[in-house]
Amino acid sequence: MTQLEIRDKATQERIGEVSIAQREDVDRAVGAAREAYVAWCRVPVVERARSLFRYADGLERRREEIALSVSRENGKTLADARAEVRRGIEAVEFACGMPSLMMGDALTDVARGIDSSSVRYPLGVCAGITPFNFPAMIPLWMFPIAIAAGNTFVLKPSPQTPLTSELLLEVAAACGFTSGVLGVVHGGAQTAHALIEHPDVAAVSFVGSSNAARAAQEHAVRAHKRVQALGGAKNYMIVMPDAVDSVTCEAIIGSAFGGAGQRCLAGSVVVAVGDAGDALAPMLVRAASKLQLGRGVDEETEMGPVVSDEALARISGYVQRALASGAKPLLCYPSRVKDSLPGAFFSPVIFDHVDPAGELARDEIFGPVLAVVRAGSLDEAITIANGSRYGNASSIFTRSGGSARTFASRIEVGMAGINIGIAAPMAFFPFGGVKDSIFGDLRCHGKDAVAFYTQQRVVISRWP
Ligand code: NAD
Repeated sequence: MTQLEIRDKATQERIGEVSIAQREDVDRAVGAAREAYVAWCRVPVVERARSLFRYADGLERRREEIALSVSRENGKTLADARAEVRRGIEAVEFACGMPSLMMGDALTDVARGIDSSSVRYPLGVCAGITPFNFPAMIPLWMFPIAIAAGNTFVLKPSPQTPLTSELLLEVAAACGFTSGVLGVVHGGAQTAHALIEHPDVAAVSFVGSSNAARAAQEHAVRAHKRVQALGGAKNYMIVMPDAVDSVTCEAIIGSAFGGAGQRCLAGSVVVAVGDAGDALAPMLVRAASKLQLGRGVDEETEMGPVVSDEALARISGYVQRALASGAKPLLCYPSRVKDSLPGAFFSPVIFDHVDPAGELARDEIFGPVLAVVRAGSLDEAITIANGSRYGNASSIFTRSGGSARTFASRIEVGMAGINIGIAAPMAFFPFGGVKDSIFGDLRCHGKDAVAFYTQQRVVISRWP
């Protein structure tokens, strides 16, 4: 097996290693899950839910350790990592409700002497393929619900952040999940494809960039698998002139630069309506220029590094091309990194009067680069946002109910925020977008996840 070294993204210090799974390792993990499924799907749902209660409790007790792991292997601040773990635990708590969530429907006398009911059953072995940006939360969107529904699960986390998933697995083992109910394999696209095409894998949950999501979904469909594949994003924040204030500014800064701009809900384009941009742009610059870059685990750090040198080169490419084409940055200064850390640090960049059709406003840059686009009206702002190939999230900042209502009914996204910088649904609502932000029909968590991880059987009976 090839070993993969994992480094602290800020200090580049080695913090662990994992083995890259070969095809035979994937076979072994799926085989163990297949074997465990036989008994696990027969465990009464109330007992499975009880195991999930124990798991939520186990995570709660080790949440600081998990947050530390997230912060070090991802680079995000400890505050962000703690919030992520909290969100993940909420998904486990949602899964604890499986006895009610899996309940079917029944109707007597659908015809003379005939009764009918619909019942939900698990699928078998499910697989999850997850990105680097939420190493705890996104796996927790998937396997707790799948397992509570009676499936067994094999997780393949991002090779950039695999250590946290080992912790999640360790907590599961300590909470009494029998071996095979939850397994983890490591690696990149090759390992993902070995899992997707494995004949004993019934369903695939994928979260990552749109190209990979599309490839994973197409591959899974060819192999006749059930699949949900959440992809990339470019999220627009519309600001009306009536909402230019410090609260809006703070929400935008958090959305654009939190997680160093590496969130699928990062608001990376401000569409300023009317004269909103004239007052807002200098406020954004003042706030962004104060952000303290450093190690995520230092409490005073407000922004960590991006995930890799490759990511830094990609982000820097966007900024260099924009500068070369004459774009005027409002904010673009050399890194103010504490203690000259060797991680891939990239300071916040803000461009104003950005061409709404250009790459700064259209591509998923996935870094701390904020584009301010000007629009003459709300109508024009919504048209700009809806022109995106992506449709994950979008927000409006306004004090007008009418503007908010127009926005909510016309914006083409899966998650719409009103005076919210990061429109993230809680675990009992579905999480996901539209257009190139999702491939497949059902989203993560909420009732969509229950539908995704179960199949229905309708029983029609007559007792003469
Ligand atoms: P990525 O696409 O590089 O990798 C995601 C996962 O897919 C990893 O486990 C990776 O090993 C695997 N993978 C890569 N190429 C693959 C392929 N061709 N076939 C199958 N599997 C493949 O994404 P990333 O850089 O880890 O994460 C960032 C991306 O994820 C961004 O585009 C972000 O918007 C997106 N994301 C989306 C959501 C959402 O809810 N829509 C949430 C988080 C992140």
